[in-house]
Amino acid sequence: MTPFASIPLPLQLYMPLILLTCTLVPATVLLILVVRDRGWLDGLQRSWLNHRLRHLRMRRMLSLRGIDASRYVALTPLAILRKELDICGNCTHKHVCDCAYVDGPNAVPPAVYCPNVSALDRRWLRKIH
Ligand code: SF4
Repeated sequence: MTPFASIPLPLQLYMPLILLTCTLVPATVLLILVVRDRGWLDGLQRSWLNHRLRHLRMRRMLSLRGIDASRYVALTPLAILRKELDICGNCTHKHVCDCAYVDGPNAVPPAVYCPNVSALDRRWLRKIH
C-alpha cells in the first residue's frame, strides 16, 4: 500500500488543490516581495556589476583618478553603470590604456583616449579625505 492510498478518499480528491495552493501562495508572495522591494533586485544587480568591474581596466582607471570603485558602483545609476562597463569591455584603446598605466604621470591623459572619461570626471565620486 502506497502512502497516498492511506490518505482518506475525500482528502485525496483535494490533494491537487492543496498542492497547488502550497506552491502558488509562496511563489506569489515571493513575486510580490521582489516587485515591491526593488532595492533587493537593485543590490543584486550592483553586486554582479561590481564583480564585472573587477575584471575591467575601468577599476584601475577609477583608482588612478582617486575614485573609490565601490562608491562608483553604489552611486551611479544602474543604466549608466551598465553602459560604461560595456564600453570599457568593448574598448579599442586597451593598449593605450595599459601603456598609460605603465608610463605613470608622464602618460597621455585619459581624456585623450578613454571613452569613459565622463565617468572619471564625476567629482562627487571622489574619496572624501
Ligand atoms: S581606455 Fe578603454 S579600457 Fe581603459 S578604462 Fe577607458 S574604457 Fe576602459
